[in-house]
Amino acid sequence: MAFNTKFIFITGGVLSSLGKGLASAAIGALLESRGLTVTIQKLDPYINVDPGTMNPFQHGEVFVTDDGSETDLDLGHYERFTNAKLGKNNNFTTGQIYYSVINKERRGDYLGGTVQVIPHITDEIKNSILLHADTVDVVLVEIGGTIGDIESLPFLEAIRQFKADQGKNDVLYIHLTLVPYISTAGEVKTKPTQHSVKELRSIGIQPDILLCRTDRFLSKDIKKKISLFCNVGVDAVITAKDVECIYEVPLVFHKEGLDKKIIELLNIWSRAPRLEPWEELLQKLKDPENSVTIGIVGKYVDLTESYKSLNEALYHGGIPNNSRVNLVFIDSDKIGESNCGKILGDVDGILVPGGFGSRGTDGKILAAKYARENKVPYFGICLGMQIAVVEFARNVAGLSDAHSSEFNKETPYPVIYLMREWYDDKTGTMQKRDIHSEKGGSMRLGAYPCKVEKDTFAYTAYQKDEISERHRHRYEFNTQFREKLEESGLTFSGVSPNGELVEIIEIKDHPWFLGCQFHPEFKSRPMAPHPLFKDFIKASLEYSPKKAK
Ligand code: GLN
Repeated sequence: MAFNTKFIFITGGVLSSLGKGLASAAIGALLESRGLTVTIQKLDPYINVDPGTMNPFQHGEVFVTDDGSETDLDLGHYERFTNAKLGKNNNFTTGQIYYSVINKERRGDYLGGTVQVIPHITDEIKNSILLHADTVDVVLVEIGGTIGDIESLPFLEAIRQFKADQGKNDVLYIHLTLVPYISTAGEVKTKPTQHSVKELRSIGIQPDILLCRTDRFLSKDIKKKISLFCNVGVDAVITAKDVECIYEVPLVFHKEGLDKKIIELLNIWSRAPRLEPWEELLQKLKDPENSVTIGIVGKYVDLTESYKSLNEALYHGGIPNNSRVNLVFIDSDKIGESNCGKILGDVDGILVPGGFGSRGTDGKILAAKYARENKVPYFGICLGMQIAVVEFARNVAGLSDAHSSEFNKETPYPVIYLMREWYDDKTGTMQKRDIHSEKGGSMRLGAYPCKVEKDTFAYTAYQKDEISERHRHRYEFNTQFREKLEESGLTFSGVSPNGELVEIIEIKDHPWFLGCQFHPEFKSRPMAPHPLFKDFIKASLEYSPKKAK
């Protein structure tokens, strides 16, 4: 069946962490700059059915889309680099593919036939890719893992068949490999690339374009050598040079002629690329006038991949403020009464990010207290908002031992609690959850509307009465305590349209103190920095010289 859509498959070889996700996102950006519409899908070889329950230590951040899907963090790159609207059809794992096939088998859809990897699993994979056919001009599909892994074989077989099904002008294979520089030899080495391509060809896929990750631009001679051994055109050997700033990747690819080659091979007509916005962005990021240091007080401090979107959103917040943003990760477990001031004394703003589990909670509460008392800008995201509420309840409203029932089931003042029943504005239905709800299946997930009160930090930032932000949490503010906390000076600046759910809190008598129940970092983009991050960085910049005095 012919579609008006072209498909590009991106695979990776030699080793992981070469930046396949970023490369896919950058290709998306380049195609969009030529006026084409794109979407990007990630196919992950692991068996987990629900990426939402995966450990951030092992797997990095869980990215949440508007429709409430919990996905691989590469989808965050895709959204930051392109205008693609992503959702549940943009990320499939091996586990989900098998789950669906097994369910079909149980239902009797295969009429008792033998169910096999080929064709049943591969058909399921191809169908998941085809969900995007005719929705955009180009569908980019990133295959997770590295060529040679046992796990990715069904995906590779499916994309091999895909070209045979769709025709050769509509399908392109791009392979990302490593071309290391060996200092003792004083030259770059092409052997790992040759082997990786050989491996790919042995499963029937001849790459059309090679992206060679390396620390220097490859010479014509090296490109010729790779071309000869790997059977790709010399102009299809693209240097994927290391960059200082990830937003430089589209420009490096363009300089190497990647977008032109893609257009030519896929035989699509498009206008010349408009890359000025990327050039301007890079200029701003590379040469800012100011500098600010933000302390992130959390649990996954050794693995900054866990806060990928957060880090990016903070950098974005620096752009309109003409400021570089330095991030300091502080392990909340290490913060105690006696050293709190010493640890936090050097930062210009304090951010407590989202999180699960009780480890480090006391340190986070101390950090919120320090920020409130010393008038240091504070930004609490999800758990960071809940922490700020607990701190305020205990130390300002006099509700001693107030806590979130996530951490203390016996607290006399459960200011944050597990709401048993709530009316879901989004679906117009009653939702239920309790401590027995399935892990990963009982959260408030995805985009929810929120009404913003005038004359608040939130309103100053958004300049809108109603906003939509993405959620990922189980616990909520307990409105039973709203009046009491309001009397003590806490402002409730954002609530759900029916007023039942508290979405934003702030402290008025402070330069900038705001907590939100949602995750604004998921919606920040380099070209459109999120208003809350922009204002948090602004306040931190204003605080910085005061601190120095
Ligand atoms: N653990 C808290 C909850 O489930 C906060 C979650 C988060 O920060 N994403 O409500």
